[in-house]
Amino acid sequence: MKIAIASGKGGTGKTTVSSSLAAVWDSPVIAMDLDVEEPNLHLFLNPGFIGSRTAQMEIPEVDPSVCNLCGKCSDLCQFKAISLMGKVLMTFPEMCHGCGGCIAICPEKALTPASRELGEISWGHKGDTEFLMGRLRIGEAMSPPLMRQVKERLGEMQDTSSTAATRKDVIPKDVIIDAPPGVSCPAINAVMDSDVIVLVTEPTPFGVYDMKLAHEAFTPMNKPMGVVVNRAGLGNSEIYEYCNAKNLDILAEIPYERQIAEAYANGIIISESSDKMKHIFLELAEKIKQKAGSKNAGVVPRE
Ligand code: SF4
Ligand code: SF4
Repeated sequence: MKIAIASGKGGTGKTTVSSSLAAVWDSPVIAMDLDVEEPNLHLFLNPGFIGSRTAQMEIPEVDPSVCNLCGKCSDLCQFKAISLMGKVLMTFPEMCHGCGGCIAICPEKALTPASRELGEISWGHKGDTEFLMGRLRIGEAMSPPLMRQVKERLGEMQDTSSTAATRKDVIPKDVIIDAPPGVSCPAINAVMDSDVIVLVTEPTPFGVYDMKLAHEAFTPMNKPMGVVVNRAGLGNSEIYEYCNAKNLDILAEIPYERQIAEAYANGIIISESSDKMKHIFLELAEKIKQKAGSKNAGVVPRE
């Protein structure tokens, strides 16, 4: 089972929920930080890292002595990352999505694969919880290609699990995904493979507005969704009215309390900060499992 922890905006407590859930999850789990632009799940989980690799993306390199300026590559590229300008073929590596189409289509074989560094993928574990994250290189704009490679690494980690899972005594690992905030391409990319989406929000006008956007964006995926209200007690009741109107289950409320803010400020996993919080997250874990098991539960058809 893959659980995506998402939010319409940053700062709602998405990573707080991801780390706390991973800490109470009662079966083998991989905590995966797909918020590759600003990964910070490791700051809470504090895993021991055991491996890393540089993520590269294939980009075209032109051999001007072979290129006949036919323009076929330029016509093909939707991103204008390779462009025929008069009698000059120019490449813009930072705009390339690495599809390889131009290299494949070039009739003169004038394009060869070069590479651009996207960032780094690291993995490790904290006790029984395995950990995986991607970190985008500073200045790199393209997070989905790196996210794809983080998912490939997850597949390798799961492969190990599934090989083991052929033995009846081993349970395949669940995955808790700390997704990027917002509703743009990286957020969609992060939640698209999940079995259940948990939207983390707060009862403020900004929280309500951005959660509506996230709910609308993710609804067409037809996945079970539920809501965690962070800083409950702050703001007004609009978030509850929206969830009620849309048949969205509120799976947990994290109270707006000084003790929680202090734990957060000290990098303490919230579910480990008190028995009360542990109980809240144990209940949340149970509700997520029920929701994942009840296909389409809480999903409202698109209006
Ligand atoms: S398709 Fe090949 S030959 Fe044609 S412009 Fe592009 S690189 Fe040059
Ligand atoms: S690899 Fe794809 S995205 Fe990159 S320049 Fe070629 S066609 Fe464009």
